[in-house]
Amino acid sequence: MKSPGKPAPPGQLLRHLPSVDELIPELRREAGGGPSDAALAEAARRAIEGQRQRLRGGQAPEGGPANGPALRDSLRREALHQAGDILRADQRPRLRPLINATGIVLHTNLGRAPLSEAACEALLGVARGYSNLEFDLESGKRGRREGAMEELLCRLTGAEGAVVVNNNAAAVMFAIRLMAEGREVIVSRGELIEIGGSFRIPEIMAQSGARLVEVGATNKTRLEDYESAIGPDTGLLLKAHTSNFRIVGFTEEVPRERLVALGRERGLPVLEDLGSGCLLPVPGLPAEPTVAASVEAGVDLITFSGDKLLGGPQAGIAVGRAGWVQKLKKHPMMRILRPGKLTLAALEATLRAYLDPGTAAGALPALRMLAEAPESVGRRVRALLDALGPELRGKLDAREVETTGKVGGGALPLAELPSRAVALAPGGLSPDETEERLRRNDPPVIARIHEDRVLLDLRCVREDELPLLARALRALAGA
Ligand SMILES: *Cc1c(COP(=O)(O)O)cnc(C)c1O
Repeated sequence: MKSPGKPAPPGQLLRHLPSVDELIPELRREAGGGPSDAALAEAARRAIEGQRQRLRGGQAPEGGPANGPALRDSLRREALHQAGDILRADQRPRLRPLINATGIVLHTNLGRAPLSEAACEALLGVARGYSNLEFDLESGKRGRREGAMEELLCRLTGAEGAVVVNNNAAAVMFAIRLMAEGREVIVSRGELIEIGGSFRIPEIMAQSGARLVEVGATNKTRLEDYESAIGPDTGLLLKAHTSNFRIVGFTEEVPRERLVALGRERGLPVLEDLGSGCLLPVPGLPAEPTVAASVEAGVDLITFSGDKLLGGPQAGIAVGRAGWVQKLKKHPMMRILRPGKLTLAALEATLRAYLDPGTAAGALPALRMLAEAPESVGRRVRALLDALGPELRGKLDAREVETTGKVGGGALPLAELPSRAVALAPGGLSPDETEERLRRNDPPVIARIHEDRVLLDLRCVREDELPLLARALRALAGA
């Protein structure tokens, strides 16, 4: 007889592992009619393999006695449990919806702009079946992928032409390559931006095959700085919007009109990377340069994102003069960078909302959230607190507080969005633990910690998400 406490050698324990065939009938019963026998067998095999490795590693079987039929039974139950987890995990997508309670509207890590109802419908409509993606319904012949989109973009921005690619980083790289491959591109030192750690003007430049020529100082660049840098190898003047930072104080930059005039005089094109793609000023926010203003100023090509202030799907848009747009369309890179039909459908529906500027801000969730008054967010805060009831509110120490959110997505870095939040301080849980539990909820709830309290800013939380949020808070309180 072995002393209790001392585990049997792994070899002996391994004999007690269940077999795949032994687990399948019970797994099938638990899983209902869903998975095939092959999927059940695979889950069972992976669960048993996990047990084998743990036993070999000297880990004692979970809660099981050290011997005999009881051990067999314990291992079998553990394997069933784990195979069930494996099956469920296989069915749950890794990319899934969550509740954004950060108060950051265009949160890049959380997927930036939520799409409008019309955009979702358009996307689903072409997703389920076939579409005239590259088919001209008038002539019955092959058509152009982004034909309708180009017309819309020209109408909305005043540009002569437009192309759509996968994202704005691609649009910038593509435009630089087209306009200045093998040549020099002049950029102000105040505009050598980095966005989200992976978009850096100098690196994009290198990938475009152009050479960066920096001019001016970080806080001041004058027209003469550009002028004196122009040489025989210069191919392009680039202006980049400093979307995610501001140099404040003693600053000077060259207005795009003057850069365009200089370009004309010296026979050089001007490219402007606008970043956000603001088509319509958002009420209550500091003015962002609009795409139309850049077109009006005569910039040759202008690039911007589809999923920032524009409020659509991830996409990169380049608009501008017909000659340059024509060259983009014919360039072999276009084939590499072109977006898919799902993106095009959602983008077209998003752009259509702008045809009526009076209703655009109401139809596009990102704009609606950005423009919403704090008092209006506060109504959802109180609805949530009411739904919890006094006892839960007490347990969670939940109350309404004033807070400030952000635009996000590298847009309007200094703009603050006065907002309202539910502040939580559940007894027995640290702010970090509270934040983590909410994050592990299904659906995950992403909160913010501020001064030792967990804040749920409800600016980006829809009315119809409140019951889910209330359920997450009930679970948090252990109720
Ligand atoms: C966000 C941004 C980019 C990158 O756009 P993506 O759509 O993320 O590829 C490039 N330039 C500027 C100025 C930006 O703000």
